[in-house]
Amino acid sequence: MYDLFMEIWRLFGKLFPGCIAMLIVVCFLLLGIFQPLEWMTYNTLFRLRGNIDWNQQIVVVTIDNKSLLEFKQFPWTRTRYIELLNILDTAQPNVVAFDIIFSESSPDDVALANAMKQHGKVVLAEAWDSQGEPWFPVPELEQAAITTGHIFGPKDGDGMIRKVQPLINGIPSLGIAAIQAYATFTEIPSLPNLEEALWINWPSQVQQMPHYSFVDVVQGKVSTDIFKNKIVLVGVTAPGIDVLVTPFNYDPPTGGVYLHATFISNVFGHNFLHLFPSGAWIILLLLAGPVWGLLIVRWHSGKKLGFCIGICVIWEIFSLFMLKINYWLPVAAPMTLLGMTTGIVIWQDDLNLKAENQTLYRLANYDSLTQIPNRRRFDEYFQQEWGRMTREKSSLSLILCDVDFFKRYNDTYGHQAGDSCLQKVAQAMSQAIKRPSDLVARYGGEEFVVILPNTTVEGAMIVAEEIRSQVKILAISHKASEVSQYVTVSLGIASIIPVSDIPAEFLIKTADEALYRAKKAGRDRFCMITAEDLGLNR
Ligand code: GH3
Ligand code: MG
Ligand code: MG
Repeated sequence: MYDLFMEIWRLFGKLFPGCIAMLIVVCFLLLGIFQPLEWMTYNTLFRLRGNIDWNQQIVVVTIDNKSLLEFKQFPWTRTRYIELLNILDTAQPNVVAFDIIFSESSPDDVALANAMKQHGKVVLAEAWDSQGEPWFPVPELEQAAITTGHIFGPKDGDGMIRKVQPLINGIPSLGIAAIQAYATFTEIPSLPNLEEALWINWPSQVQQMPHYSFVDVVQGKVSTDIFKNKIVLVGVTAPGIDVLVTPFNYDPPTGGVYLHATFISNVFGHNFLHLFPSGAWIILLLLAGPVWGLLIVRWHSGKKLGFCIGICVIWEIFSLFMLKINYWLPVAAPMTLLGMTTGIVIWQDDLNLKAENQTLYRLANYDSLTQIPNRRRFDEYFQQEWGRMTREKSSLSLILCDVDFFKRYNDTYGHQAGDSCLQKVAQAMSQAIKRPSDLVARYGGEEFVVILPNTTVEGAMIVAEEIRSQVKILAISHKASEVSQYVTVSLGIASIIPVSDIPAEFLIKTADEALYRAKKAGRDRFCMITAEDLGLNR
């Protein structure tokens, strides 16, 4: 049962980084934090993908700078459009779609309406303003048009239009309306599902599609044959009037008429972008983080990082390949998920390593029974403090402490009781020392040792007496003791100002001698031997 619990706990530890990364990424997705990054990668991927062909059944007549210079500032009188329609009429059959809303009435409306009727296949634009109020052509013109289409395309936060709703409240988009008019005299490919948003697939720079300046067309500088059997889109491309940003035309941007040109080109080319359903993405994200975390958990950090970067690069290449076959894959979210999972796993490794090092340090330096520093730690610390006290010319005191009649204690109460007694004595001794530089260690068997740097024999006596009384307070029964009904200790104190020609072991030997004297003198007491007693440190 316990093993099963530990297994589950360990598995949870391995799944933890992926799950945390997944939760963060899902939160980021819900908050839209990835959007700007996804838009940036969308634009970059298009540029990396390169150009695809524009459909050749579309021609754009541009109201460009040149036309504005010739015919003065916008809006123009209706006469301009009548002239254009008359010329396009001679190149029948064709569809003319105006990406211009003739919403203000004009004295020439009747004449324009007549020209539109004469042509027979003119499509007009309509829109909604920001409050949702309709923005229609004047009634005469609307009646003269074969149909009207909306020119609404939702702009993303970066100003780019990435999708078009082909039908809004039953009103087709300008592109769909133009294609439907076109279908009256030409075979067209099947239309996409008009109920769902269609994701624009930008072919290349808009300048690469057939386009002619309005003034050139009206002044007869363009052969009318060019417009035969075509959808002719008319719109403003002069800077700053109807701005359209595309991955290929962003500096400077181009005119909104090219959105409809691109849309029609996508319909004819059957190459709108496909998106994977968002539900599928969420499930993939839910799985990817934890699975990746499990996969890399045993790898070393370099391999983890290397594979993370490698997979990010592969994903980037894969999404480029997918764009070539008209699929738009998210890039920022999966890369963040991968990077974050890898980062958390590496961080977790670091924590585990630190914890392991700490465990190793404890195993190497602490006594497993009493949980106080062991002989190894004592030797190391004693040498260090001996050196320090030699340099500082300061007193170093050592107390050796031995439990009285402990063999008998073991014999009377059993070895386990003996162990527990040693643990209690070690705790009592630890409480008796106060300074951070003091150290209590298990010297071996039932013997303990205390290092007291910067402490004279007087100070050491106080500590020794404190240890003796702390052990007494424990009141551990010891029937077999000859000196007390409770467990007692004997202590030997040695104190010296170390000098370099005396070995450190000398102080231990002296403390041992003092301990022997304490035992001989009747136990449950301390004895001391100072440097003065030995004729040193004078
Ligand atoms: P004295 O008062 O002269 O010190 O007598 P003593 O019996 O304490 O001294 P002796 O050195 O003869 O016995 C020490 C005993 O300590 C022997 C050994 O069984 C016991 N001992 C040493 N290490 C451990 C330990 O880790 N656990 C237990 N339970 N007993 C230990
Ligand atoms: Mg002993
Ligand atoms: Mg003993």
